[in-house]
Amino acid sequence: MPAITVHDKSFETYLPEETILQRVKEIAAEINKDYAGRRPLFIAILNGSFMFASDLFKQLNIEAELCFIKLASYKGMKSSGNVVTSIGLEDDLFNKEVIIVEDIVDTGKTLHNFLPKLMHQQPKSLKIATLLHKADATEYPLQLDYVGFSIPNKFVVGYGLDYDGLGRNLKEIYQLV
Ligand code: 5GP
Repeated sequence: MPAITVHDKSFETYLPEETILQRVKEIAAEINKDYAGRRPLFIAILNGSFMFASDLFKQLNIEAELCFIKLASYKGMKSSGNVVTSIGLEDDLFNKEVIIVEDIVDTGKTLHNFLPKLMHQQPKSLKIATLLHKADATEYPLQLDYVGFSIPNKFVVGYGLDYDGLGRNLKEIYQLV
C-alpha cells in the first residue's frame, strides 16, 4: 500500500479513487430514484464535503438545488453543551425537501446539535447523506439515510477531508497508519 505523509503523520491508502467514485454513483442513482419530481435542496457542510458534494451533484439527473454552509460551534451559556450555528444558509427551508451532505459522521454530535435548527424551519423532509460513517464512534444516534462507507474508528484524510488543514486535495482516502 502506498504511504504518504501529511504534516508529521503517515497515512496509507484506504479507499482508492475508483471505489469512491463508484459508490458516489450508486448513491446518486438512489437519490435520482427517490427524489424524481421532488426538486431537493442539497445543503453541503463545509469544508470537508465539497468534493463529495461536487461529484454527487454531477451524477444527478433530476432537478436539484445546492448550497454550502459552514457550521460554527460555541459553548452555550447553560451546561447543555455546544450550540451549533450555521453560516451561509440563506434559503428558506419551509416545505423544502432537504438533503444534508456531510463528509463524515463520527460521534454524530455536530449534526445532532444542528438538525433541530433546521427542523425549526419546517422543511417538508430532511435526510442525511454522508460519505463516511464511523459507526463504532457513535455517541449521538442519527438516522443516516445515505451512507457511502462504514469505516473503522481511525482518522482519515483525503477527498476533501483534512489533517490540520492539509490533505483535502488527495483523490483517494487515506487512513492513519
Ligand atoms: P462528529 O460531530 O460527528 O463527531 O464529527 C464530525 C466532524 O468531525 C466531521 O465533519 C469532520 O470535520 C471531523 N472528523 C471526524 N472524524 C474525522 C476523520 O477521521 N478525519 C477528518 N479529517 N475529520 C474527521
